Amino acid sequence: MDTVRNVKINYPVKYYCLSPAAIENSLLAKAVRSIGQIFDIREIEAGSEMAMPFNSVWIHSIKLPDNETSPDLLLEISYWQDNNLAKFSVPLIGAATATNINRKVYLLYKTITGQNPNPWGVLRGVRPTKIVHKLLAQGLSMANITTRLMEDYLLSSEKAKLAVEVVSNQMSVLEFSKQQQEISIYIGIPFCPSRCLYCSFISSIIPANNDELILFMTAIEQDIDAVVELMNNYNLQVMSVYIGGGTPTSLPDEFFACLIKKVRNNLIQPNTKEFTVEAGRPDSFNDFKIRIMSEFGVSRISINPQTMQQKTLQSIGRNHTVEQIYNVYAKIRSKKTMVINMDVIAGLPGESVSDMINTMSKIAELQPDNLTVHTLAIKRGSALHQKLDEFVFPVLDDVRRMMSIADSYAREMGMYPYYLYRQKNMLGNLENIGYANQGSACLYNILMIEEKQTIIGIGPGATTKAVDVNTDHLTNLYFPKNVKSYIDSLHIYTAKRQQLLERLFV
Ligand code: SF4
Repeated sequence: MDTVRNVKINYPVKYYCLSPAAIENSLLAKAVRSIGQIFDIREIEAGSEMAMPFNSVWIHSIKLPDNETSPDLLLEISYWQDNNLAKFSVPLIGAATATNINRKVYLLYKTITGQNPNPWGVLRGVRPTKIVHKLLAQGLSMANITTRLMEDYLLSSEKAKLAVEVVSNQMSVLEFSKQQQEISIYIGIPFCPSRCLYCSFISSIIPANNDELILFMTAIEQDIDAVVELMNNYNLQVMSVYIGGGTPTSLPDEFFACLIKKVRNNLIQPNTKEFTVEAGRPDSFNDFKIRIMSEFGVSRISINPQTMQQKTLQSIGRNHTVEQIYNVYAKIRSKKTMVINMDVIAGLPGESVSDMINTMSKIAELQPDNLTVHTLAIKRGSALHQKLDEFVFPVLDDVRRMMSIADSYAREMGMYPYYLYRQKNMLGNLENIGYANQGSACLYNILMIEEKQTIIGIGPGATTKAVDVNTDHLTNLYFPKNVKSYIDSLHIYTAKRQQLLERLFV
């Protein structure tokens, strides 16, 4: 029996430390560290008990019970309460796997701290919906899957229902993509007009020097040619092509036109369903680029305001105005050939719930076909992370309300959630959700998040995902992130990609 009493700590736990004895048990150490991540609790070095801060939990010993034939572990936890160090222990009965230990430790933390649990329970991964697909493949009904998500993975009922709803909405889109030879292609262009405060991507500011760009474009073209060879050798059928980054439209006109034409003429096939350009920044568009995209068959485009509040756009390093968003949107909408996605972010510094209502009401007036709602993630590599003290962030309850407001607006616009993913260090441990009007969901986004189809990566930092559709086995190949390293080692990486895909398609 668990020896946990009904104890509560009156303050949120900010730190935990593992004793050397606990660290020696790698399974437990891994599980406890993952719980630290789930609750955003920092680990501090094990030292004397008295050095332990008052708002901390000390996981200080782990031992086998007396009966050494049992695999069960005993977890002992000390915590500060009313200036006294209290202690209790709990057997991790049957907790011989990392998931079980995660559950046990998660429930323990909940008991001793009284903190609200992470809405995504013990799930830490980027792709919570993959579990739904796995359980579906085992023959479970959606109702049973919802229950399993809540009981086994400790999701809140709201998140369990969301995950199941998202997968239900994906099913019709995924119906045809079950042939090994069906693939998608991703092209990464790692340049932007300026750097957003919260960005931790590899993207850099577009070089002013044409010579650098010529070298880059030559490498991209060679990379595309190598993929064309693969397509011909293995009779590949390209379902979707996605040019992302970065901001591909930040390329100067002539380079951008070359890229779009090269893709159109070499990678797009008669049965290709989507050709997407993540245009992202309204300050990277002009009439020429819009015309090129329209003429050469781009079928989907993202215009990403992130917010419709001018004060915020300036403070987060996006050098464009709300006015530019309206102008670009009107021009692209007039072409009537492209599905338009817009991105917003909940939790931006300095924003309130009423800012989110204002942003969403303006977006609702524009009526895009897709909406992607992100929760701000404060990533280590971002400028925001270095300057946290300079900004005021909305409280977590407000971030949750912002996500809920965006959800209500999306549904009022006739949209449904069709993909979601999570990242580390997201405010409130929430998620990013893609919404779409009926018939306008982005196939590539689903395939990429659910890892249901091989995606061939082109460009710096691109990942090739080789998926065996019969077993769902996935092998990733990462291209170098640095542009110079990518150019210099392209021949090595295209050869590796060739070998990886040969194993899959021959
Ligand atoms: S547009 Fe995207 S990739 Fe470019 S700097 Fe901003 S967040 Fe980074």
